[in-house]
Amino acid sequence: MSKSAAKKIQAIRGMNDLLPSDSPRWQFFETKVRQLMQRYGFDEIRTPIVEQTALFARSIGEVTDIVEKEMYTFEDRNGDSLTLRPEGTASCVRAAMEHGLLHNQTQRLWYQGPMFRHERPQKGRYRQFHQVGVETYGFEGPDIDAEVILISARLWKELGLFEHVTLELNSLGSAEARLAYREKLVAYFEQHREILDEDSQRRLISNPLRILDSKNPAMADMLNGAPQLMDHLDDESREHFEQLKAMLDAAGIPFVINPRLVRGLDYYCRTVFEWTTSALGSQGTVCAGGRYDGMVEQLGGKPTPAVGFAMGIERLILLLETLNLVPEEALGGCDVYLVPMDDSATVTALTLAEQLRSELPGLRLQLHCGGGSFKSRMKKADKSAATLAILLGEDELADQMATLKFLRDDREQQRVSQAALSSMLGELLAR
Ligand code: ATP
Ligand code: MG
Repeated sequence: MSKSAAKKIQAIRGMNDLLPSDSPRWQFFETKVRQLMQRYGFDEIRTPIVEQTALFARSIGEVTDIVEKEMYTFEDRNGDSLTLRPEGTASCVRAAMEHGLLHNQTQRLWYQGPMFRHERPQKGRYRQFHQVGVETYGFEGPDIDAEVILISARLWKELGLFEHVTLELNSLGSAEARLAYREKLVAYFEQHREILDEDSQRRLISNPLRILDSKNPAMADMLNGAPQLMDHLDDESREHFEQLKAMLDAAGIPFVINPRLVRGLDYYCRTVFEWTTSALGSQGTVCAGGRYDGMVEQLGGKPTPAVGFAMGIERLILLLETLNLVPEEALGGCDVYLVPMDDSATVTALTLAEQLRSELPGLRLQLHCGGGSFKSRMKKADKSAATLAILLGEDELADQMATLKFLRDDREQQRVSQAALSSMLGELLAR
């Protein structure tokens, strides 16, 4: 083999492998999410990872970070322009429309999966990352805004994160109100042109609201003095917002109003919110969402009220790890390691393992495979996460017994009949 052929191929920068040591945390999180969605009556939707490029250009908006510079877009063999999805909302709307899910009915959907954005990889920011999202369609009032916020709040509580995150809230008003506000804002920024950085100069024409998002400290004072969207809301949006705040108060969910929260995406109106944490450095937003009543129409459907959010799973897992909040028992492993003490016991061990798995569906049992000396078999048992080893040797086979060895306790090993194993293990498991 030539030298170049032997060079090891590595994963793409910003796209991570999830190793066996990582997956228990992910499964812990995913299980919580799935149960939660069921409890709130949300149904899962799964859409393809690749969509036509036009879907994202039309829904997310041409002058957003995502569409301007972050999408993985390519031509397939037919010459069609396709894009790896950078977020889930557009695909959800597309699928719901395509399958008639929005016709005279409401929907409460959730999804989970990988998203792709060509960003500069750093802690909490990757090129393939994962989101859990919810999307609701057909609900106009603020009750659904409150409901989706409450789902996220309950998830934080169940994960032990609630004390570590802050709910930031704002209203963007109606599209018309925003347009009027936009003019005032542009006029204000033009008076302070010399303070605007390069990015903001560019956005002044394309997307002036995004300037409010800027973290540039040199602009902070100027931004604090800018006219506030909250003072330019239309009456209906103001009422909607007041009601939402009252509902969150009633549900005991604290929030702070952030008048500069405008979100990166074009499609939001009225309610926008973010859950942020200070424990992750600058990648501090763990969940973001809001109302996007205009999007279905923008994609060719009937006007349909819509509210949703997306949370970044990597950031949440980082947060759980940082705060040491994944419970020990969620970290996987097995309960029992079953050891044929020599090769003559292999077949009996195999069938006994199957029998125990049938009788005890909750049992996590690893069978020793691959032979080896007795000593090396016992080493493997010790290295496994199991608390108990079951040993089968010549003596045991002769009288249909098994030896229990307690791997983590200072306790005498014990001989029991194979027939009694399942009820004994059942009792041990129950404890
Ligand atoms: P940011 O301001 O951090 O770039 P965003 O506004 O682009 O976030 P959204 O499009 O609202 O993010 O996505 C919702 C959530 O998905 C974010 O709050 C974050 O938790 C997560 N997320 C977004 N981009 C990435 C990424 N590149 N890597 C990891 N997580 C991400
Ligand atoms: Mg971003």
